[in-house]
Amino acid sequence: MHSKVVIIGSGPAGLTAALYAARANLEPLVIRGLQPGGLIATTSEVENYPGFIEGIGGFELADNMEKQAARFGARYMDAIVERVDLSQRPFRLVTDSGEEVTADALIISTGASPRKLGVPGEDRLANRGVSYCATCDGFFFRNKKVVVVGGGNSALDEGLFLTRYVSELKIVHRRDALRADPILQERAFSNPKITFVWNSVVEEILGDDKVTGVRVRNLKTGEVSIIETDGVFPYIGHIPNTSLFKGQLELDENGYIIADHRTRTAIPGVFAAGDVVDHIYRQAITAAGEGCKAAMEATWFLSEQEHAARKSAELATTPA
Ligand code: NAP
Repeated sequence: MHSKVVIIGSGPAGLTAALYAARANLEPLVIRGLQPGGLIATTSEVENYPGFIEGIGGFELADNMEKQAARFGARYMDAIVERVDLSQRPFRLVTDSGEEVTADALIISTGASPRKLGVPGEDRLANRGVSYCATCDGFFFRNKKVVVVGGGNSALDEGLFLTRYVSELKIVHRRDALRADPILQERAFSNPKITFVWNSVVEEILGDDKVTGVRVRNLKTGEVSIIETDGVFPYIGHIPNTSLFKGQLELDENGYIIADHRTRTAIPGVFAAGDVVDHIYRQAITAAGEGCKAAMEATWFLSEQEHAARKSAELATTPA
């Protein structure tokens, strides 16, 4: 299958790129990836995406973006890209079903995945009390005790969402000050279901076939204690999804793709947008803005290629 523009990833960056590329009549192909709609689709309420006075559900926002781009001709493929060859154009991609897709221009918007705690019990008890998505799993913790790990916006936002269901929520944070925005801090501090466990890290998640507790170490006193809990939600940041591009694109020391302010990577025709390049802002709106830029750049790149090809064809047919 060949497309002028292929977009890998379907979060706000990918879907906005799809909208702009579709409106440029490029019929982009979006390969949805592991998490259709991206991380925003797993977020409960989005209150800071402009245009929605009362906020909007994360899934609904992503779904709207997808439908909006489809209206102008964007196409979607439910697949995971397993291999890429960026050494020549058209670029070659192979999906998990073995299908080969080629592209004249490629927009990478593969986003980032939740960072794991990396402690004993975490993998074994995944989906048995360990979850990285409060929106998806909060309902299963009705009237139960839950631990959230982290002190950023995600930990507080998702923790506050969980208080709709749970009876008690402890936020375990490795420092004694939060990184989250003041408005979220105020809401969390005034929520009677939330208590904080400061200066502490989770060392082990306990339980045989489901979570029963976490072993926590206080980093100031060295004291180790057990917190009884039915669920653990780690929200300790993200890791960019770039393993696919190792050795082909330049990555920084944390694995983010290096692209210029016009979303261009070192390979002409390959653009990168959203959380896969951005370790500072990481907002749906900044990702959407970059997706817009990437699609405009891809459009200009393809026009230049076509122009150059026409010129050389003309030269070849001009009598000497
Ligand atoms: P983040 O801002 O990087 O926060 C990660 C938190 O986890 C920090 O408090 C950090 O502690 C802690 N942490 C990191 N590694 C850890 C480890 N190994 N063990 C224990 N704790 C660890 O990540 P995020 O909260 O996922 O947010 C990502 C981006 O999305 C941010 O830009 C955020 O503003 C944005 N976001 C915005 C909203 C909103 O506006 N409503 C909602 C969600 C996310 P330290 O503080 O000590 O570093």
